[in-house]
Amino acid sequence: MRALPASALVVCGLIASACGGTGTGGAAAGQAAPATSAEQTAEQTPSEQTPAKQSPPDAKPMEGKVVVIDPGHNGGNYRDPAAVNRKVNVLTKWKPCDTTGTQTNSGYTEAAFSFDVSKRLVKILESRGATVKLTRTSNDGVGPCITQRAAIGNKARADAAISIHGDGAAPANHGFHVIMPKKINGPVDKVVGASSRLGIDVRNAFAKGTGLPYSTYIGRNALDYRNDLGGLNLSTVPKIFIECGNMRNAAEAAKFQDPGFRQKIALALANGLQHYLET
Ligand SMILES: [Zn+2]
Repeated sequence: MRALPASALVVCGLIASACGGTGTGGAAAGQAAPATSAEQTAEQTPSEQTPAKQSPPDAKPMEGKVVVIDPGHNGGNYRDPAAVNRKVNVLTKWKPCDTTGTQTNSGYTEAAFSFDVSKRLVKILESRGATVKLTRTSNDGVGPCITQRAAIGNKARADAAISIHGDGAAPANHGFHVIMPKKINGPVDKVVGASSRLGIDVRNAFAKGTGLPYSTYIGRNALDYRNDLGGLNLSTVPKIFIECGNMRNAAEAAKFQDPGFRQKIALALANGLQHYLET
């Protein structure tokens, strides 16, 4: 922006009478007018101003935001049924501490799918400046319990939390859906509204980014509200679940088994989270 002297010189070159300067008061007064007009022209040039003003905020649009990602289930859950089936209180009922999750017909597990998408999502969010925490950091362990998965988001004081899943419905069913909490006369009540906004943002970004249709079998326009999920009932931060599609549907299973498509899913989720956190 300090191009002013050069611009002023050009102006002076063209308007010799104003810049000739013979040392009189009149010449000095005449000099002020072209300099001011040159400065205004420079200030208003969009090509000079836009990059300087926009690049710093755009580099890390999620700076200062905390996101907790919960990859559903765990690859080792089948090894410890006693621990996984232990009943825990989710305020509206008692449920197993965790479950093994579903898998595609060819044996690609929901736990592996959700963990892979989550790792991809961590990378994207961190590159955008967010602080990200996972509820589990490997796919060969057991748990944690759904109560603990919620507690991790609460303890991190997450600005947004998301639990990633693939559904195991009848083979003809397809499409994705987002699950948001309902009021239950509990601590989650205060984040039900924010979770709903988060869910709609992620629904929109997921549909746009993956091209997958809204669920043909659950919810309305890919939005479902539930009061029986521990991961939602026990959350005191805005939180949603996403069922990315039906792993028992052949077409969706094929997509989920493609690393390129999982990257697409992660990018879409990142865009939805970012949109929510920016508005
Ligand atoms: Zn699941």
